[in-house]
Amino acid sequence: MNTSTPTVAFDSSAIRKQFPILQREVYGKSLIYFDNGATAQKPESVIKAIDRYYTLENANIHRGVHHLSQIATEAYETARKTIAAYINSPSSEEVLFTKGTTDGINLVAFSLGETLKAGDEIIISAMEHHSNIVPWQMLCERKSCILKVIPIHQNGELDLDAYSQLLNEKTKLVAVTHISNTLGTINPVKRMIQMAHLVGAKVLIDGAQSIQHQKVDVRDLDCDFFVFSGHKVFGPTGVGILYGKKEILEELPPYQGGGDMIAKVTFEKTTYNELPHKFEAGTPHISGGICLGKAFEFLSELDMDEVAAYEHELLKYAEEQLEQFEGLHIIGTAKNKTSVLSFVVDGIHPFDIGTLLDKQGIAVRTGHHCTQPLMDFYGIPGTVRASFAFYNTKEEIDVFVAALRRTLNIIG
Ligand SMILES: *Cc1c(COP(=O)(O)O)cnc(C)c1O
Repeated sequence: MNTSTPTVAFDSSAIRKQFPILQREVYGKSLIYFDNGATAQKPESVIKAIDRYYTLENANIHRGVHHLSQIATEAYETARKTIAAYINSPSSEEVLFTKGTTDGINLVAFSLGETLKAGDEIIISAMEHHSNIVPWQMLCERKSCILKVIPIHQNGELDLDAYSQLLNEKTKLVAVTHISNTLGTINPVKRMIQMAHLVGAKVLIDGAQSIQHQKVDVRDLDCDFFVFSGHKVFGPTGVGILYGKKEILEELPPYQGGGDMIAKVTFEKTTYNELPHKFEAGTPHISGGICLGKAFEFLSELDMDEVAAYEHELLKYAEEQLEQFEGLHIIGTAKNKTSVLSFVVDGIHPFDIGTLLDKQGIAVRTGHHCTQPLMDFYGIPGTVRASFAFYNTKEEIDVFVAALRRTLNIIG
């Protein structure tokens, strides 16, 4: 394959220029950042917005009558609207700011959990991130509910026959990842949501790995909840989004109590604020929310179908080359995959590979990727994971492949 001319329309070289960190060196080598599954780099527009906020606009929101407070409130609420429009939420009241994916899942586990009773069932899958396992285990402990797990096939696809057998009238919630952070599998969530709704169950989609790779339309999916983290979609850490259907959020009790989430407080009784504020107690990550809005303005300018096609090409290009390494096994070979490339090499610990790649300026992830039950399924301690974003290139993959060859020659 010709390495210099991508066959898709997407122009990553122009995009790369907007990410200042990609120009830096590590150990005297050009940085090659293949750890996008853990966190994504930030475009200049987001970085500048953080600076601008603290230089010119910093104030608390929703409270002050003064000028700065009004500017900050307006910017924060504009960000909410930008994000709501991007995911095609029917309204911005259904878009709640959280601390991230983990926080959003814990919110639902608590608030929806309050409405569950002993014997109710929750379904997750064998490829979930710990964030989408542990909160449900805690809920099951608290409410004596039952946790069921959709098994997977060896190639990293969900066993949908088993899923349909797990669903029944006791199923209250299905919480499943849109795309696996470890395997790259794109799950057929639209169909899974339809199946869950047929038995009256609600569905939470963990979108932490999907919204940066493909267009997400919550109305088309018809999911009841959709969660993701700001830092994986080119925005700041410490901020994320929980989308929830209005009629469900209105019925649920609040998660945390405090300022901003109340309508009126007396010592006898407190009434709660309306959506979205009912679920947003305390001073939020104001600059984080505003800058997450900037990240979505940036994303809005991209054609996500082109992005997905380009990233798929990167994945295929890297896979073809890695398949030629003796003793190397790709973990996660689903038909429908995003640009996540996990692998193990016979007799070599993933950590050693990651350490030597790092010395050559290449950032990959090694370990269990917060999916220990999935590692147990494959009988491995962890993988080396290269996860690509649209600012990565085939040239970088060439450098990575050569570095991997050197690494395996040294320690193999
Ligand atoms: C990263 C990730 C999470 C957790 O996100 P945080 O930002 O750490 O809260 C959950 N699920 C998946 C699939 C992830 O990739």
